[in-house]
Amino acid sequence: MKPKIWLSSPHMGGTEQQFVKEAFETNWIAPLGPNVNGFEKDLELFLGNESHVAALSSGTAGLHLGLVLLGVKAGDEVLCQSMTFSATANPITYVGATPIFVDSEKDTWNMSPVLLEEAIKDRIAKGNKPKAIIPVHLYGMPAKMGALKVISNHYKIPILEDAAEALGSSIDGRKCGTFGDISILSFNGNKIITTSGGGALVSANEAVVKDARFLATQARDEAPHYQHSKIGYNYRMSNLCAGVGRGQMEVLPARIAKRREIYDKYFEKLSGKKGIHFLEEPFWYISNRWLTTILIDPAEAGFTREDLRLALEKENIESRPLWKPMHLQPVFEQYPFYGDGTAEKLFQNGLCLPSGSNLESEDLFRIFAVFDEVMR
Ligand SMILES: *Cc1c(COP(=O)(O)O)cnc(C)c1O
Repeated sequence: MKPKIWLSSPHMGGTEQQFVKEAFETNWIAPLGPNVNGFEKDLELFLGNESHVAALSSGTAGLHLGLVLLGVKAGDEVLCQSMTFSATANPITYVGATPIFVDSEKDTWNMSPVLLEEAIKDRIAKGNKPKAIIPVHLYGMPAKMGALKVISNHYKIPILEDAAEALGSSIDGRKCGTFGDISILSFNGNKIITTSGGGALVSANEAVVKDARFLATQARDEAPHYQHSKIGYNYRMSNLCAGVGRGQMEVLPARIAKRREIYDKYFEKLSGKKGIHFLEEPFWYISNRWLTTILIDPAEAGFTREDLRLALEKENIESRPLWKPMHLQPVFEQYPFYGDGTAEKLFQNGLCLPSGSNLESEDLFRIFAVFDEVMR
């Protein structure tokens, strides 16, 4: 059996172990310490825009805290991009709120501003004005934040930006993770950089980030004993994981460059082939190209995305259909959905290709050989 080619696997830079070793030597083996502070500083510098960052145990924890900090409560409604990973939507239910799913538009595959406004008007007419909007930058491609923010400002509904897949992506030079009233990042094992597991909450509002750190460490009031006047969470990032994160921050620009290069190679090889379509960057947008994704039109191509996926699997190459939209998931299908069928079509025809920054050129040759076989 040929060695496995993964969709996206962890890729260490080399200095991570130094930071972890330092943590051992100084006995900072806790969910606080110099690596946590250092990692937060690194992220703040990278993101710019006066960002403040709280390092957390996961991106999901960031979304949960984000909803709590925006004051979302049981019975509230939250507008959520349907085309995403379930981690975007799950936290809405943790606070007892109701997800209202919104379809994607075709240029970026992210939340449609048109359908968002339609949903807001209809929810207001039904007597329950939504409390937050959660757009996602899928596969690293920035959502149409300009238009989404105009709507957010007009209706005074804050944005909780899910930038889990988009560290290093930008619109007109402004980094994803700085567009939301509150934003979140993920450093899970398959993301563009990893802390083995981790996430962050980001906001330009320093007080919000302070509150996030407070809630993430069990909401301990200042007192010599354990005193609590709020419900807390155990969501802080460990100092060991943050050490890995500091090492990874040193190679982040190289990782982005490599993922973009991989996209370019797929594009060179496959663009113009019958029935294969790429997600191209709109003007002024930069995607970190976390994953290269293609759409296969079976009528034009003569094969389906499933034919291709199975052919790759036979060669021990991992690929995966695009996210199955939340409004089609058994666990979420009873919730309201505003859409025009875009996400469903993307799910039917879309495939994520191996895109890890540790992909070798011989891996790409193996992948291309399968394409040649299927396209014959
Ligand atoms: C990975 C991911 C998350 C969750 O991040 P974790 O760190 O794994 O909890 C949330 N949203 C999206 C879109 C993701 O891809």
